[in-house]
Amino acid sequence: MIKKILIANRGEIAVRIIRACAEMGIRSVAVYTDPDRWALHVKRADEAYNIGSDPLACYLNPRQLVNLAVETGCDALHPGYGFLSENAELARICAERGIRFIGPSAEVISRMGDKTEARRSMIAAGVPVTPGTEGNLADLHEALAEAARIGYPVMLKATSGGGGRGIRRCNSQAELEQAWPRVISEATKAFGSADVFLEKCIVNPKHIEAQILADSHGNVVHLFERDCSIQRRNQKLIEIAPSPQLTPEQRAYIGDLAVRAAQAVGYENAGTVEFLLAEGEVYFMEMNTRVQVEHTISEQITGIDIVREQIRIAAGLPLSFGQEDVRHRGFAIQFRINAEDPKNGFLPSFGKITRYYAPGGPGVRVDTAIYTGYSIPPHFDSMCLKLIVWALTWEEALERGLRALDDMRLQGVKTTAAYYQEILRNPEFRSGVFDTSFVENHPELLNYSIKRKPEELALAIATALAAHAGL
Ligand code: ADP
Ligand code: ADP
Ligand code: MG
Repeated sequence: MIKKILIANRGEIAVRIIRACAEMGIRSVAVYTDPDRWALHVKRADEAYNIGSDPLACYLNPRQLVNLAVETGCDALHPGYGFLSENAELARICAERGIRFIGPSAEVISRMGDKTEARRSMIAAGVPVTPGTEGNLADLHEALAEAARIGYPVMLKATSGGGGRGIRRCNSQAELEQAWPRVISEATKAFGSADVFLEKCIVNPKHIEAQILADSHGNVVHLFERDCSIQRRNQKLIEIAPSPQLTPEQRAYIGDLAVRAAQAVGYENAGTVEFLLAEGEVYFMEMNTRVQVEHTISEQITGIDIVREQIRIAAGLPLSFGQEDVRHRGFAIQFRINAEDPKNGFLPSFGKITRYYAPGGPGVRVDTAIYTGYSIPPHFDSMCLKLIVWALTWEEALERGLRALDDMRLQGVKTTAAYYQEILRNPEFRSGVFDTSFVENHPELLNYSIKRKPEELALAIATALAAHAGL
C-alpha cells in the first residue's frame, strides 16, 4: 500500500486529498509558493515544503515536484485538478523515478488530452461523437471549407483546451474569420499549442458527464452522471447529480457509453467522460483524465469516496465493488462559490476574508481552503468554496441549497452566493429542465439586492473606512 503522497496542488483540492490520506493512514506532503505561505493545505498536511517565490511557476514544474517527492520519501504523487493534472510529462517522470502517479498512464493522458485524438479513439470505439473535423486545421482556408461542410453554427476549439477557455461559437463565415486569430492566440497563451479544430455547434445542449473508476485489473464502473448545464461562458457554476432531466434508460445508456469509452483507451484510475445531449441524441465531447471539481456530488449520491478509490487503484488494488453494487440515492447539488462580483461582469474580487462562518446542518458539505483572516491571492482561480447539499428529493435539495447559502457568511470579498439563490428560486431551474443557455437567457437573475443585517453593515463600513485610511 502507498505510505506517503506528495500533493502537487493547492487550495481546496489539496485539502480534499489530505483528508483522504488522513483517513487511510497515509502521510501527506504539501507544497507551496510564497503567496500560499498561509494557505490551509500547508497547515493541514503532515509536511509542507516551500517550492519557490514565483506564485505559479513552481506548481507547474514537473521535474522539481517529482524530485521533491523522491527526496521526501514519498511513494506516490496526486496531481489534483488544473495545474499539471493532465500533463503527460509529469506522469512519465513519476514512472521513471518510481513514484506512483495517481491517475492514468502518460500515454492515455496525451491521447485524451488531445481533443482531436480523443475524438478519433471514440469513433473507433463506436461511441457517438459531435460531428466535426477529423483532425487539426491547417489554416483558415481549410477551416472555412470544413465549416461549410459541417454547417453553421460551428465551435472553433483549442485541441489542448480546458477550463472553458479557447472555445468560440461561430454563426457565420465572417464570425469564423474573426474568431480564428483570437482562438489561436488564446490557445497558444493558455495551453502552449496553436492547434485548433471545428465541431458542429449543438444548439442549446445539456452538458451531461459520467464519472468512471477503472482499476489495473480491467474492472471499469461508472458512478452515474452529473448535469453541468448551468454554465457561464462554458464554465460550470452549479452541478447536479444525478441529472434531474434523464430517464433511467438514458442514465443507463450514458453510463455504459462512458465505461465503453474508458475500456477502449485502456483507462486506469478516476476519469470523466463528458457528453452533450440535444433532441434525444448523445454526443461524446471530451474526457477529463483526472479528479474533477464536481466529483463531490457523485460521492454524495453513491457514498463512494472517489479520492480514496484513486489512491487504492494507484496502489494496484482491485475495485472493492462491482457495477451492481453502485447505487444512487437522492440528489446532490454543488455550488461553486467564486470570489467574483456577478453584478460587475463576474469580475474577480480578491482580498481578505474578514469573516467566514461555514454553513452546516443535515445534508451539507463544504470543501474549501478559506478561513477568516485568509487573503485570497490574485494569482489563482477565483473559486474559493464548494458548497454541496444533498437531500432525498430534488425539491428538498433545492430548499436545502437555499437554506445552506443563507447559513453561510462570507465577507470581505464579493461572491456568487446570492446569485445562486436567485437561480434556486427560478421556476425553470426548479422544474429540473434546463440547458447550457440558462444563464445567458436569464440576465434578470442578476437583479437581486443583498440585504445586510445591521452588524454586517457596520462591519462593511468600518472595513471601507479602514481601507480608505490606509490601515
Ligand atoms: P472540471 O471539469 O473539473 O469542472 P474545470 O474545467 O472547471 O474542471 O477546470 C478546473 C481547473 O483546471 C480550472 O482552474 C481550469 O482553469 C483548469 N484547467 C482545466 N483544464 C486545463 C488545461 N487543459 N490547461 C490548463 N488548465 C486547465
Ligand atoms: P473544456 O475542455 O474547456 O471543458 P469542453 O469541450 O468540455 O471544453 O466544452 C466546454 C463547454 O462548452 C461545454 O460544457 C459546452 O457547454 C460548450 N460546448 C463545447 N462544445 C460544444 C459544441 N460542439 N456545441 C455546443 N456547445 C459546446
Ligand atoms: Mg469539458
